[in-house]
Amino acid sequence: MKVAVNVAVVGAGWAGMAAAIAHTQAGRRVTVFEAARTVGGRARAVQGTLPGGSPATLDNGQHILIGAYTESLRLMRLVGVDAQTALLRLPLTLQFPDGQGLQLPNLPPPLDALLGIARAKGWHWRDKLALLRTATAWQLRGFRCAPQTSVAALCAPLTPRLMAEFIDPLCVSALNTPAHEASGQVFLRVLQDSLFSGRGGSNLLLPRADLGALFPEAAARWLPRHGGQVITGQRIQRLLPLPGGRWQLVGTGNAAKEADAPEAFDHVTLACPSWEASRLAEGLAGTAGLAAAGRWSAAASTLRFEAITTVYAHAQSARLPQPMLALRNTAAHPAQFVFDRGQLDGQHGLLAFVVSASDGDRAQIEQQVLQQAATQLALPGLQPVQTVVEKRATFACTPGLQRPGMQVLPGLTACGDYVQGPYPATLEGAVLSGTAVAACITAG
Ligand SMILES: Cc1cc2nc3c(=O)[nH]c(=O)nc-3n(C[C@H](O)[C@H](O)[C@H](O)COP(=O)(O)OP(=O)(O)OC[C@H]3O[C@@H](n4cnc5c(N)ncnc54)[C@H](O)[C@@H]3O)c2cc1C
Repeated sequence: MKVAVNVAVVGAGWAGMAAAIAHTQAGRRVTVFEAARTVGGRARAVQGTLPGGSPATLDNGQHILIGAYTESLRLMRLVGVDAQTALLRLPLTLQFPDGQGLQLPNLPPPLDALLGIARAKGWHWRDKLALLRTATAWQLRGFRCAPQTSVAALCAPLTPRLMAEFIDPLCVSALNTPAHEASGQVFLRVLQDSLFSGRGGSNLLLPRADLGALFPEAAARWLPRHGGQVITGQRIQRLLPLPGGRWQLVGTGNAAKEADAPEAFDHVTLACPSWEASRLAEGLAGTAGLAAAGRWSAAASTLRFEAITTVYAHAQSARLPQPMLALRNTAAHPAQFVFDRGQLDGQHGLLAFVVSASDGDRAQIEQQVLQQAATQLALPGLQPVQTVVEKRATFACTPGLQRPGMQVLPGLTACGDYVQGPYPATLEGAVLSGTAVAACITAG
């Protein structure tokens, strides 16, 4: 009888759970080790308390998915999540509280974009013509540009109003990197896949459930039903190469007690963030024959990061005209978007303000956002609920960035939102990488 290949996946974020599913479907026996007590990594549920003392279900950061996230949607369905009810699907909208901005109609591309641009409120005809002309030029060039081009340079023919009210919010929400530092090539790829991938690709998919319920928790329930397991509270400290190309994992936490009878794995997939994967690979670099791990570790360690801050605030009567609005942001009013959780998951009066590429300390950002809400939304009575600062939310998606590949060593692979791929750090980039990593193993 053929013995199943034994695989360890280090990290139970969206990439790790996607990899665990793909390894399992390839007939391998999978154990996922997760350092935290919960699964989901940078897209997970967190518990909060409303000003009155009642509990609130929050996320470590408000997320948006789009219709073009086909791999995320496939995996949700596979693990039993009904995407129709778990996500609110809306045509792409970048409207401000005064009703100005872009809202695409529900039509097939490119009609939706053409009509949406023609009808955009508050834009001069010069803005609209510049956008149509520039977007046509991008399409004619196959949505490609020189690798060193920034989004700001790419969009130089556009008007200042379009930069402030369309490109800047779109760029910072998709790449979490300001336009003058962001990769034009990756931005064009996101535009191509969202606006031209087919009907609904540019739709916004707003979570109606917390991020844990949306995929990682359901995946962690799916895995044991298919012969695998997820061990939480287990941080992997070191990888030990064994004779015959096998691996032993040295960790802290409950499974460390099994040190007397350590399990040997045929293959390890690192699904932890780049800095942790880099640390684990570096630990191997001194071993004879494993110098390539040092080169991979060095490549992973060069990535820089951008923060995202989410400010949750509550007022009994707070309700937005739409589930999501764009906000005019400045240094003193830093939020780019606000979400009405009452219209999404029924937590009435709860708003989530998103500050992408955020700078500054938690208390200062929270105060600035509450002032911004009072000024731009006429919501003076908002009480802060919780402010989550994710300092290393995403890698800085800069022009010409070299990202580490999937293969670290024979028998050792890596997946995650930062691994070489077409997308910026997103849920879709993470799960695509997770699914792909299982396909690159030849044995088993
Ligand atoms: C605030 C915020 C807002 C965002 N908004 C969006 C959005 O709107 N749309 C979108 O598409 N994307 C968004 N993103 C990006 C998206 O969340 C990430 O790209 C994605 O979650 C990354 O998944 P991952 O599995 O690659 O990594 P991670 O989620 O970081 O998963 C890695 C896992 O490894 C674990 N781990 C680390 N070290 C070890 C170890 N030594 N041993 C065992 N386990 C370990 C970690 O605990 C973690 O669970 C946002 C991110 C943040 C932080």
